[in-house]
Amino acid sequence: MKLILLGAPGAGKGSQAVKLTTTLNVPHISTGDAFRMNIKNGTEIGIYAKSFMDKGLLVPDEVTIKIVESRLQQPDCEKGFMLDGFPRSIPQAEALDKITDIDFVINIDVDLAVILKRLTGRLSCGCGAIFHKSTYSESACDKCGGTLFTRDDDKEETILKRLDAYKQTTEPLIDYYKSKGKLFNARGNGSIDECFEQILSILKK
Ligand code: ADP
Ligand code: ZN
Repeated sequence: MKLILLGAPGAGKGSQAVKLTTTLNVPHISTGDAFRMNIKNGTEIGIYAKSFMDKGLLVPDEVTIKIVESRLQQPDCEKGFMLDGFPRSIPQAEALDKITDIDFVINIDVDLAVILKRLTGRLSCGCGAIFHKSTYSESACDKCGGTLFTRDDDKEETILKRLDAYKQTTEPLIDYYKSKGKLFNARGNGSIDECFEQILSILKK
Protein backbone atom coordinates (compact mmCIF):
# COMPACT_ATOMS: atom_id res chain seq x y z
CA MET A 1 0.00 0.00 0.00
CA LYS A 2 1.30 3.43 -0.98
CA LEU A 3 -0.01 6.10 1.30
CA ILE A 4 0.38 9.85 1.84
CA LEU A 5 -0.52 11.60 5.08
CA LEU A 6 -1.52 15.20 4.45
CA GLY A 7 -2.38 17.85 7.02
CA ALA A 8 -1.26 21.08 8.63
CA PRO A 9 1.65 21.12 11.08
CA GLY A 10 0.22 19.74 14.32
CA ALA A 11 -2.60 17.86 12.59
CA GLY A 12 -1.16 14.63 13.97
CA LYS A 13 0.54 13.15 10.90
CA GLY A 14 3.53 12.01 12.92
CA SER A 15 1.44 10.36 15.67
CA GLN A 16 -0.72 8.53 13.14
CA ALA A 17 2.32 7.51 11.12
CA VAL A 18 3.94 5.82 14.13
CA LYS A 19 0.79 3.70 14.63
CA LEU A 20 0.15 3.02 10.95
CA THR A 21 3.68 1.91 10.14
CA THR A 22 3.28 -1.03 12.54
CA THR A 23 -0.27 -1.89 11.50
CA LEU A 24 0.37 -1.72 7.76
CA ASN A 25 3.94 -3.02 7.92
CA VAL A 26 5.26 -0.41 5.50
CA PRO A 27 8.17 1.99 6.11
CA HIS A 28 7.39 5.41 7.58
CA ILE A 29 9.09 8.09 5.49
CA SER A 30 9.11 11.50 7.15
CA THR A 31 10.98 14.30 5.40
CA GLY A 32 10.95 16.30 8.65
CA ASP A 33 12.63 13.40 10.47
CA ALA A 34 15.09 12.97 7.59
CA PHE A 35 16.07 16.65 7.80
CA ARG A 36 16.38 16.50 11.61
CA MET A 37 18.61 13.43 11.30
CA ASN A 38 20.81 15.29 8.82
CA ILE A 39 20.97 18.27 11.18
CA LYS A 40 21.98 16.02 14.07
CA ASN A 41 24.72 14.44 11.99
CA GLY A 42 25.94 17.83 10.77
CA THR A 43 25.65 16.96 7.06
CA GLU A 44 25.63 19.54 4.29
CA ILE A 45 21.93 18.87 3.65
CA GLY A 46 21.27 19.31 7.36
CA ILE A 47 23.00 22.69 7.55
CA TYR A 48 21.14 23.84 4.44
CA ALA A 49 17.74 22.54 5.62
CA LYS A 50 18.10 24.02 9.10
CA SER A 51 18.45 27.53 7.68
CA PHE A 52 14.91 27.21 6.29
CA MET A 53 13.33 25.11 9.04
CA ASP A 54 14.35 27.48 11.83
CA LYS A 55 12.55 30.29 9.99
CA GLY A 56 9.40 28.21 9.57
CA LEU A 57 9.97 28.03 5.81
CA LEU A 58 9.82 24.99 3.59
CA VAL A 59 13.10 23.47 2.46
CA PRO A 60 13.41 24.08 -1.31
CA ASP A 61 11.78 21.45 -3.52
CA GLU A 62 14.90 20.32 -5.36
CA VAL A 63 16.68 19.08 -2.23
CA THR A 64 13.53 17.63 -0.69
CA ILE A 65 12.58 15.72 -3.83
CA LYS A 66 16.09 14.23 -4.10
CA ILE A 67 15.91 12.89 -0.55
CA VAL A 68 12.56 11.20 -1.14
CA GLU A 69 13.57 9.88 -4.56
CA SER A 70 16.57 8.04 -3.16
CA ARG A 71 14.63 6.80 -0.12
CA LEU A 72 11.89 5.30 -2.32
CA GLN A 73 14.54 3.34 -4.23
CA GLN A 74 15.41 1.35 -1.10
CA PRO A 75 14.21 -2.29 -1.29
CA ASP A 76 11.95 -1.94 1.78
CA CYS A 77 9.71 0.43 -0.20
CA GLU A 78 8.81 -2.21 -2.79
CA LYS A 79 5.88 -3.50 -0.73
CA GLY A 80 4.62 0.05 -0.19
CA PHE A 81 5.36 3.02 2.04
CA MET A 82 3.81 5.82 4.02
CA LEU A 83 4.87 9.39 3.32
CA ASP A 84 4.55 11.84 6.22
CA GLY A 85 5.26 15.49 5.38
CA PHE A 86 5.84 14.87 1.69
CA PRO A 87 4.67 16.13 -0.75
CA ARG A 88 4.23 19.61 0.66
CA SER A 89 3.98 21.56 -2.59
CA ILE A 90 2.53 21.04 -6.08
CA PRO A 91 5.99 20.60 -7.67
CA GLN A 92 6.79 17.91 -5.07
CA ALA A 93 3.51 16.11 -5.87
CA GLU A 94 4.25 16.28 -9.59
CA ALA A 95 7.73 14.86 -9.00
CA LEU A 96 6.23 12.03 -6.95
CA ASP A 97 3.71 11.26 -9.69
CA LYS A 98 6.64 10.68 -12.04
CA ILE A 99 8.18 8.15 -9.63
CA THR A 100 5.17 6.05 -8.63
CA ASP A 101 1.38 5.72 -8.26
CA ILE A 102 -0.13 6.51 -4.88
CA ASP A 103 -3.13 4.49 -3.58
CA PHE A 104 -4.48 6.73 -0.83
CA VAL A 105 -4.03 10.31 0.32
CA ILE A 106 -5.35 10.79 3.85
CA ASN A 107 -6.00 14.41 4.75
CA ILE A 108 -6.07 14.89 8.52
CA ASP A 109 -8.37 17.80 9.09
CA VAL A 110 -7.98 19.77 12.35
CA ASP A 111 -9.29 23.18 13.46
CA LEU A 112 -6.73 25.96 13.71
CA ALA A 113 -7.37 26.58 17.42
CA VAL A 114 -6.57 22.94 18.21
CA ILE A 115 -3.41 23.07 16.09
CA LEU A 116 -2.08 26.14 17.87
CA LYS A 117 -2.63 24.56 21.25
CA ARG A 118 -0.90 21.34 20.25
CA LEU A 119 2.18 22.90 18.68
CA THR A 120 2.88 25.30 21.53
CA GLY A 121 3.13 22.49 24.09
CA ARG A 122 4.61 19.74 21.99
CA LEU A 123 7.36 17.50 23.38
CA SER A 124 9.19 15.29 20.90
CA CYS A 125 11.35 12.18 21.20
CA GLY A 126 14.02 10.97 18.78
CA CYS A 127 12.04 7.71 18.33
CA GLY A 128 9.14 9.61 16.77
CA ALA A 129 6.89 9.62 19.84
CA ILE A 130 5.11 12.90 20.57
CA PHE A 131 3.69 14.14 23.89
CA HIS A 132 2.02 17.30 25.16
CA LYS A 133 3.07 19.34 28.20
CA SER A 134 -0.53 19.52 29.42
CA THR A 135 -0.91 15.74 29.68
CA TYR A 136 2.65 14.44 30.12
CA SER A 137 4.92 15.62 32.92
CA GLU A 138 7.83 13.14 32.62
CA SER A 139 11.10 14.21 31.02
CA ALA A 140 11.71 10.78 29.46
CA CYS A 141 9.81 9.01 26.66
CA ASP A 142 7.57 6.20 27.94
CA LYS A 143 8.23 4.21 24.74
CA CYS A 144 12.04 4.23 24.55
CA GLY A 145 13.29 6.14 27.61
CA GLY A 146 14.82 8.88 25.43
CA THR A 147 15.02 12.47 26.66
CA LEU A 148 12.15 14.64 25.40
CA PHE A 149 12.81 17.97 23.74
CA THR A 150 11.00 20.95 22.25
CA ARG A 151 11.75 21.18 18.55
CA ASP A 152 13.62 24.33 17.47
CA ASP A 153 10.78 25.17 15.11
CA ASP A 154 8.06 24.77 17.78
CA LYS A 155 8.54 28.37 18.99
CA GLU A 156 5.46 30.56 18.69
CA GLU A 157 6.62 32.96 15.95
CA THR A 158 7.99 30.05 13.90
CA ILE A 159 4.74 28.11 14.33
CA LEU A 160 2.78 30.97 12.74
CA LYS A 161 5.17 31.03 9.76
CA ARG A 162 4.86 27.27 9.32
CA LEU A 163 1.07 27.55 9.29
CA ASP A 164 1.39 30.29 6.70
CA ALA A 165 3.62 28.09 4.51
CA TYR A 166 1.03 25.34 4.88
CA LYS A 167 -1.82 27.64 3.69
CA GLN A 168 0.14 29.04 0.76
CA THR A 169 2.00 26.02 -0.53
CA THR A 170 0.65 22.76 0.91
CA GLU A 171 -3.12 23.23 1.17
CA PRO A 172 -3.52 23.33 -2.65
CA LEU A 173 -2.57 19.63 -2.60
CA ILE A 174 -6.02 18.85 -1.21
CA ASP A 175 -7.61 19.87 -4.52
CA TYR A 176 -4.77 18.32 -6.49
CA TYR A 177 -5.46 14.87 -5.05
CA LYS A 178 -9.24 15.38 -4.91
CA SER A 179 -9.29 15.88 -8.67
CA LYS A 180 -7.40 12.58 -9.04
CA GLY A 181 -9.99 10.82 -6.85
CA LYS A 182 -7.38 9.88 -4.25
CA LEU A 183 -8.29 12.16 -1.35
CA PHE A 184 -9.92 10.90 1.86
CA ASN A 185 -10.64 13.06 4.89
CA ALA A 186 -10.11 12.05 8.51
CA ARG A 187 -11.14 14.37 11.33
CA GLY A 188 -8.22 14.94 13.65
CA ASN A 189 -9.66 17.20 16.37
CA GLY A 190 -10.19 14.32 18.77
CA SER A 191 -7.84 11.74 20.25
CA ILE A 192 -5.04 9.93 18.44
CA ASP A 193 -7.02 6.67 18.65
CA GLU A 194 -10.21 8.23 17.25
CA CYS A 195 -8.32 9.55 14.24
CA PHE A 196 -6.50 6.24 13.81
CA GLU A 197 -9.81 4.31 13.67
CA GLN A 198 -11.11 6.66 10.97
CA ILE A 199 -7.98 6.14 8.89
CA LEU A 200 -8.23 2.37 9.22
CA SER A 201 -11.83 2.40 8.07
CA ILE A 202 -10.87 4.48 5.04
CA LEU A 203 -8.09 2.03 4.12
CA LYS A 204 -10.46 -0.95 4.43
CA LYS A 205 -12.62 0.43 1.61
P1 ADP B 1 5.37 19.64 10.95
O1 ADP B 1 4.46 18.88 10.03
O2 ADP B 1 4.90 19.57 12.37
O3 ADP B 1 5.68 21.02 10.50
P2 ADP B 1 7.73 18.18 9.98
O4 ADP B 1 8.67 17.42 10.85
O5 ADP B 1 6.96 17.43 8.97
O6 ADP B 1 6.77 18.91 11.00
O7 ADP B 1 8.53 19.34 9.22
C1 ADP B 1 9.39 20.24 9.88
C2 ADP B 1 10.03 21.21 8.88
O8 ADP B 1 10.84 20.46 7.95
C3 ADP B 1 9.06 21.98 8.01
O9 ADP B 1 8.59 23.15 8.63
C4 ADP B 1 9.95 22.28 6.78
O10 ADP B 1 10.83 23.35 7.03
C5 ADP B 1 10.78 21.04 6.65
N1 ADP B 1 10.13 20.06 5.72
C6 ADP B 1 9.65 18.83 6.06
N2 ADP B 1 9.11 18.22 4.97
C7 ADP B 1 9.26 19.08 3.93
C8 ADP B 1 8.89 19.06 2.56
N3 ADP B 1 8.26 18.00 2.01
N4 ADP B 1 9.20 20.14 1.79
C9 ADP B 1 9.83 21.19 2.30
N5 ADP B 1 10.18 21.30 3.58
C10 ADP B 1 9.91 20.26 4.41
ZN1 ZN C 1 11.07 7.69 22.48
